[in-house]
Amino acid sequence: MTERIQDIAHLGRIELFTPKIDRTRWFFETLLGMEVAHADGKSLYLRGYGDYAAATVKLTESARPGIGAVSWRTASPEALARRVSAIKAAGLGERWREPEFGRGAAFRFRDPDGHGMDVYYEEQKYAAPAELRSTLKNLPIKYTARGVNVRRLDHLALLARDVGLNREFAQKILGFALREQVLFDHGKTELGSWLSPSPVHHQVAYVADVKGGHGRLHHISLWVDNREDVLRAADILAENGVFIEAGPSKHNNSQGFYLYSYEPGGNRVEVYSGSYLVFAPDWEVVTWNEEERGTGVYWGSPLPESFITYATPDVVEEMALARKIPVFDPV
Ligand code: FE
Repeated sequence: MTERIQDIAHLGRIELFTPKIDRTRWFFETLLGMEVAHADGKSLYLRGYGDYAAATVKLTESARPGIGAVSWRTASPEALARRVSAIKAAGLGERWREPEFGRGAAFRFRDPDGHGMDVYYEEQKYAAPAELRSTLKNLPIKYTARGVNVRRLDHLALLARDVGLNREFAQKILGFALREQVLFDHGKTELGSWLSPSPVHHQVAYVADVKGGHGRLHHISLWVDNREDVLRAADILAENGVFIEAGPSKHNNSQGFYLYSYEPGGNRVEVYSGSYLVFAPDWEVVTWNEEERGTGVYWGSPLPESFITYATPDVVEEMALARKIPVFDPV
């Protein structure tokens, strides 16, 4: 077995596109309890109370929902240089980008499915304003107990036309460890792969895009400390008229305890706890076949059809825009 590259430390930041920036802000700030650390042109930069970085979620006003850049923080400046070289050699590099709020220069690339990604090293630690300073020395911000009060960014799930190609890219070029897979047809069809650069079970999942789109988002996921907080999140979202698509319930793969909703801009957002950490350097990939996988639910109601078919941006709309024809919504 070749030694795993460990140049990427963790998922650093995700950018969400939203056509309803004010309502999306309300969802993340008031309901999920994240802090807006900075506003800049069309973008807002937010953080969970436990995130050490200045910002982990960037919301950018856009015509359509979907995922912007997925940013990975490297372990050192040298590790960044090595990954940039590897990405360029793989033919997927684009360009260096100027520093933005909370971090230094980042190198932009695309995964094989076309999702925009950045690697960067320089990260600004969060310095809370006086009114938000915690009395706990090792907590970057006061525990505000506002809304769901999510602690930190955990992971995201991306759709891909070819899961295997993107999984290989993540393993070989980015150095991620493969944790679990769903393989159908006696192992011939790779429906999903869960990967991570850190002990967090998965920080990115690639799942087959049943609509054959490119560069789409299935969901982003924010961490709370326990399952009771996930149940409480369901109360808060229901009280505020937010659509709950699935859960609270428990997945079989990842053991995640989940609640899926749509933020007002249309992107699917998961509130998440449970799961497990992986420390073994010789971890053996857990694979699930048709019978073992079932509906992806360990107990509780099966996931709805929309969980398989809905993603952002919608592929019908994407194709219509490409052809410049009006979008017809049959629902
Ligand atoms: Fe998830």
